[in-house]
Order: sequence, then C-alpha cells, then structure tokens
Amino acid sequence: MVRSIINLPKIVGSLSKADRELFDRIYRYYIEVGRLKLPNGIRETALREFGECEEQTIVRITNKITLESTLFNELRAKRPIEAKSRCVDHPSAECRFCRAEELTAEDVFGRIEGKHCITASNMAKYDYLHAIIIFRDHEPFVFEEEKILDYLDVAWRWVEKANEFDESARYPFFMWNCLWRAGASIIHGHAQILLSKEPYAMQEFYDSVRKAYRREFGSEYFDDLFRVHEALGLGFELEDVRIMVYLTPIKEKEVLMLAKDFLDLPNALSKILRWYYGIGVRSFNLAVFLPSIGENDLCLARIVDRGNLENRTCDIGCMELFARTSVVSSDPFKLSESLKKFI
Ligand SMILES: [Zn+2]
Repeated sequence: MVRSIINLPKIVGSLSKADRELFDRIYRYYIEVGRLKLPNGIRETALREFGECEEQTIVRITNKITLESTLFNELRAKRPIEAKSRCVDHPSAECRFCRAEELTAEDVFGRIEGKHCITASNMAKYDYLHAIIIFRDHEPFVFEEEKILDYLDVAWRWVEKANEFDESARYPFFMWNCLWRAGASIIHGHAQILLSKEPYAMQEFYDSVRKAYRREFGSEYFDDLFRVHEALGLGFELEDVRIMVYLTPIKEKEVLMLAKDFLDLPNALSKILRWYYGIGVRSFNLAVFLPSIGENDLCLARIVDRGNLENRTCDIGCMELFARTSVVSSDPFKLSESLKKFI
C-alpha cells in the first residue's frame, strides 16, 4: 500500500482497535472526487501543466477537538504560477542588523547577549514587551544546533529580565519568521520574543482545549494527539522531543514538536531545518508556545513552509483567514517518510 493521504482509510483501517478509536475521537475526514470538463481549446495545455485533472481527489481532514481542518489536493502544487517577483538580495554592508549594537534600539533594561546572537528592542512593537533576537549570521538559513540553542537561551534570559522589569508580564511567546513570505521585513537572520500580561489567544485556546479534553477523556490531549500520529507513522521521538508531521497542517509541510523544556528543542529544530532547506524550503514561520513563568508544563513548537520566495501569490487567502480550512498540497505521509530518512 502506498503511504499517502489518499490511502487514509486503509492506513486507519490497519490500526489496532484502541488506536482507531483514538483516531476517531480526534479526527473525522471525507474523500471526494472533484470533476471538470476540458474544452478542446485548453485540453492540451491543461494536461501538460497539471497532468490528469478531469478527476481530482480531495481529502478533507478535521481535528474535532481543535477544529483545525485541512483540504488536501496534490494537483494544487502543479498550478502554473504567473505572478512572480525577482528576489532582491540585500547586501550585508548596508545591513543594520550586521551592526546591531550601533544601529538597533535596546530595551530600557539593556541587551541580552549570547555567542551567536544579541537582543534589540523592536522599533515598532507588536506588544509592550517585544525584542528581536538578532543572529550574528547575516545569512538567514541557520540550522546548527549550537546556534539555535544560543538563540533560545538568549530568548529565555530576555524573558527573565523582562519579567523582573515588569512582574505582571508572565506569558512568553517565541517566534522566528524567515524571509518575506513569512512576514519578515529584514533579511538578516533574526527571531523574536514577546512577554505579556495575558497569554496570546492561541495559547489560551490550547489551555482551554487541554482542560476540556482532560475533563471529558481523563488524559492529556497532546499525549493522545502524538499517539495517533505515531500509530499512523507520522510521529516519532528524537531524544526528549516528540515530532509530528501534522495531519491537519495550517499550510505546507507543517511539523509540530512537543518538548518538556524550551532548551530541549535545538536538536530537533536543527534536524528539521536542515531537512527543510534540503527539500527547498526558504521561508518559514516557527513559533514556540511556552508555559507561563514559574509554571512547569510542556512546550509546543510549530513550523510551517511559506512557499517559493519568487512567488508573488500569497499562500493564504479567504479559506485560511475566514473559512479556517487550509488548502494544502504537501502529503503528510510522504513528508514523514522523507523526514524519517533524514533524522
Ligand atoms: Zn546583516
């Protein structure tokens, strides 16, 4: 059997009874065929560009617990791209982040410095405590474990410092937008860290989902989510980090990581980034949901590919923004095989 999203019924059917029940508790899905007719004027071009497209299989999977929902259609990856823009390279001689100490703002409580990065205060803040972690490398495609560990360590030291400065701020959020497709305005490698008096909305949503799940089923939602992914061949462990090639990705190639501690993540992150760059990803969003200060809880990291740098079409439209049902072409089963070989 080919391990592919199209074969989901067979893959689920081969699970043990307990795993199948857990799958059914968390997920529902349908598979339908979308049909179209090609007039002669377009037939040849369409078949050349898309291959067989008069019947296209659509798989829709919904996580019933979180209401995350994804539509898979491999054909969409073959769409001709008409809107293209040239990549503009940014010479590092003009880069403000290459001279961070002189040319970036600092927080009122100072900078945090590591071997591979230094913090700056964000000039146009998302929220009232918001820093940039500026990498020593200009080139944004960093993957070395040692460097990532340093970024996370500096981020956490900044969180502690910001919390000393304002004790009411207790909810951290770590993020890394790589290049413009992912919303970054500066090419030079950088991540960001925020601390607020209220958790960000998705963190609060996860907290309430986990609480409700525990009340109803008596277990931890993320443990069960991982168990289902593991049973499907989409989840595996790397040291203390549980990795899932996510079954309802928000966009292309989404991977989730569960760690007991923020500083356990660098090895898994390093491997996933190397794999990402190896399969052509150049722009990504990485977020880490962290427990509030003083609380001992798991960390959840999510990373997603934001598409070709030369593509001027945004990867997110009404389906993602308003229908909250993502349209995705990458197959989690194929990605998982590729990632496992890499790790
Ligand atoms: Zn630079």
